[in-house]
Amino acid sequence: KTCIVCLGELLIDFVPEVNGQALADVTSFQRAAGGAPANVAAAVAKLGGDARFIGKIGRDPFGDFLVRTLDEVGVHTAVVQTDEAKTGLAFVSLRADGERDFLFFRDPAADMLLRADEVQAQWLEDAAVYHFGSVSLIAEPCRTATLDAARRARDFGALVSYDPNVRLALWPSADAARAEILAQLPLADVVKVSEEEVEFLLGVDATTGAQQLLQRGPKVIIITLGPGGCRVVTARQDVVIPGQPVAAVDTTGAGDSFVGGMLYQLVALGAAPATIVDVLAETGAAEQVFAFANRVGAITTTRRGAIPALPTLAEVQG
Ligand code: ATP
Repeated sequence: KTCIVCLGELLIDFVPEVNGQALADVTSFQRAAGGAPANVAAAVAKLGGDARFIGKIGRDPFGDFLVRTLDEVGVHTAVVQTDEAKTGLAFVSLRADGERDFLFFRDPAADMLLRADEVQAQWLEDAAVYHFGSVSLIAEPCRTATLDAARRARDFGALVSYDPNVRLALWPSADAARAEILAQLPLADVVKVSEEEVEFLLGVDATTGAQQLLQRGPKVIIITLGPGGCRVVTARQDVVIPGQPVAAVDTTGAGDSFVGGMLYQLVALGAAPATIVDVLAETGAAEQVFAFANRVGAITTTRRGAIPALPTLAEVQG
């Protein structure tokens, strides 16, 4: 099996044409395809991997644009178009102080309405990897669709990857976000988090938090360190794989493209739930996977946007 199945939100990000303004002051926005699991699928496809995306969008021009964008990059899609709600929108701005402002239009958005019976069942059987995030865990019915698909893929032998990707503004409360995100850790084999996310989820720093996350069930915890690369923690290893120095211009999508690069390499190594810890402990394996993922993330930061910034395999190897 080689296919990487991603499930979750697919939406439009409206990003300002110039940075450094609060959202209230931005006058001109550019349309960009967004949604973390969709970005991960696009990253895998751009590298030449077998990427599949499952989700739901509105039967509207923004939905059409999103499916076309994934098609163009080579992602196979099983995306339901609905009249029940419109494609989700997020207006995002990077303020002068470096903080991001978000304004979401999801009351509800079509992606939140994905039902378990709409999920392409055959793909869960085919999956080498099933990847999900936490935005699709916020509301029903897509929460059940996400978790049901994870369990089915796992039962067919897939490696399960989970990127909590905390977006607090979308949750009813911080406590609700923390409880739900932690509750799903036992489903996952591989979990990617940032240092801030570890602190938010566990209330401890990332140094001690990594072991606590492992104790909750996942076999591999990856803590991303921005330009510093990443730290990889399993029962057999705890290593920092240094980042690739670049002149970053826009970090949008770096985390997602990092995950895409990582999953692409894990499939290349034939990693399965029962073997991944031992596979990564082999000489050079962790470097092969995570130095590659770091390069994918780094290149993504050198160009604007998420999907338009993704590198090809030749660029990563060059
Ligand atoms: P998000 O995209 O949601 O912010 P994240 O916090 O996991 O996700 P980062 O840690 O910023 O993302 O980046 C992910 C990976 O991309 C890093 O682990 C690193 O490999 C690469 N990366 C990010 N920023 C830089 C940078 N300035 N220089 C080099 N590599 C970078």
